[in-house]
Amino acid sequence: MTISSTNSAEYFMDLEARYGAHNYAPLEVVLTRGENVWVYDVEGRRYLDCLSAYSAVNQGHCHPRIYETLVQQARQLTLTSRAFYNDQLGMFYRDLIAFSGYEMVLPMNTGAEAVETAIKTARKWGYTVKGVPANQAEIIVCEGNFHGRTTTIISFSSEPQYKQDFGPYTPGFKLIPYGDVDALKSAITPNTVAFLVEPIQGEGGVVVPPEGYLQESAALCRRHQVLFMADEIQTGLGRTGACFACDHEGVQPDVLILGKALSGGFYPVSAVLSSKEVLGVFRPGDHGSTFGGNPLGAAIARTALAVLQDEGLIANAAQMGDYFMAGLRRISSPYVKEVRGKGLLIGVELYAEAGGARRFCDALKEEGILAKDTHDTVIRFAPPLTITPEIVDWALQRIAKVLQA
Ligand SMILES: *Cc1c(COP(=O)(O)O)cnc(C)c1O
Repeated sequence: MTISSTNSAEYFMDLEARYGAHNYAPLEVVLTRGENVWVYDVEGRRYLDCLSAYSAVNQGHCHPRIYETLVQQARQLTLTSRAFYNDQLGMFYRDLIAFSGYEMVLPMNTGAEAVETAIKTARKWGYTVKGVPANQAEIIVCEGNFHGRTTTIISFSSEPQYKQDFGPYTPGFKLIPYGDVDALKSAITPNTVAFLVEPIQGEGGVVVPPEGYLQESAALCRRHQVLFMADEIQTGLGRTGACFACDHEGVQPDVLILGKALSGGFYPVSAVLSSKEVLGVFRPGDHGSTFGGNPLGAAIARTALAVLQDEGLIANAAQMGDYFMAGLRRISSPYVKEVRGKGLLIGVELYAEAGGARRFCDALKEEGILAKDTHDTVIRFAPPLTITPEIVDWALQRIAKVLQA
C-alpha cells in the first residue's frame, strides 16, 4: 500500500472510505475552509458552492455574525436539557413567531426529527381534536417525496433504494401523485389527519408543482378538516425568493416544518410551527429531545434568522434566482431538456441520453463549481443566497462551457 502524504486529498478520502460506512458517494473534493459562497479544498483550490449543504448554508459559509453568536453562547451555556428553562429558547420562539406568523413552536435538531414530530402532532391532533378512531389515522404523502431517513419516514418513500431492506415499514401513510389535486381529493377519508407535502420537491429533482396546486390542496384540506403540513426544510427561509415557498401562492400551512438554514449551517436546529390548537395537543412527557431547544442552537438560530432579514437575502434570492435561471436558459446545449425552479432553487434536467448528471457535476468541479446531481438526470444549482450578479456571471460562463463540451 502506498502511503499518501497526511494532508493530501487522497489521504482524507482514504480515511473516509476505510473507516466510514459507504452511505454516500461524494464528489472527489476534500474541503477545508468556507467563506460566504466559496469553499476551499485541501490543495487550496477555490470553488463556488452551488449546493449550500442542501440549502442549510443559505446565509453563506461561516457567516461572521452567526460565528460570533456561536462563540459567545458556547462560552456562556450550551445545553441544559429541557428539564430546566434557559434564557435563549423563549427568545428564539418569539423571533421565529415574528418571522413566520405562527403561534407556537416545537424545537428539534435535524429535519427528519421535525418531520417525525409533525407526524406525531398530526396523529395526536387527529385522535384528540378531530375524533379519529384509535390507531386509524391516515397521512397522505406524495410520490417522489423526500422527508428524511428515519424508519417511519422511509416507510412512505416511493424511492426503492431509500426503503429496500429496511422493513418492516410503519403503516398509516397513503401515497398519491405529486401536483395532482384530484388525487388528493380521492385519497381523503374521514380518518385522514394530514397531507404532508413539499412545496417544491428538492431531492425529487427540483419538481415545481402546477400553479395553484398548494392553494387548492390547502383549501381542500381545510374543507375536510385535514392538516396541510408543508415540509419547508429545503424550500423555506428564503431559498425560493420568499420567506417560505408556500408564500408564492399566499398559503399559510397549518403546520410548517423547518430545518437546515434555520441555523445557517452552524448547528442542527429544526422546528415545527403551528397554531395553539394543533401544537397545544402536547402534554409534558409526550415528546422530547435532549438537545432540542438547547441555548446554543436557540442563540445561533436567532442570529441566522436576523441575518436573512438584515441582509435582504430573501429579496436577493428572488432577484439572483431570476437572473441565474434566465442565464441558464440562454445556454444552448444538446443535453439540456429543461431549466426549472424558483428563486435560488434551480434544477437543470438533462436528457436521458446525456449519460447522467454526475459526469457534468464532476466536470463542473474541474471548473471550480460544486453542484450535486439529484435524481440521476438533474443538476441542482442552489448557491448561498448572498450570491452577487458578478458571481452568477462567473458561474454561467463555466456552466456553459461544461454543458456545451
Ligand atoms: C433535508 C431534508 C429533510 C431531512 O433533513 P435532515 O436534517 O437531513 O434530517 C427533510 N425534508 C426535506 C424537504 C429535506 O430537504
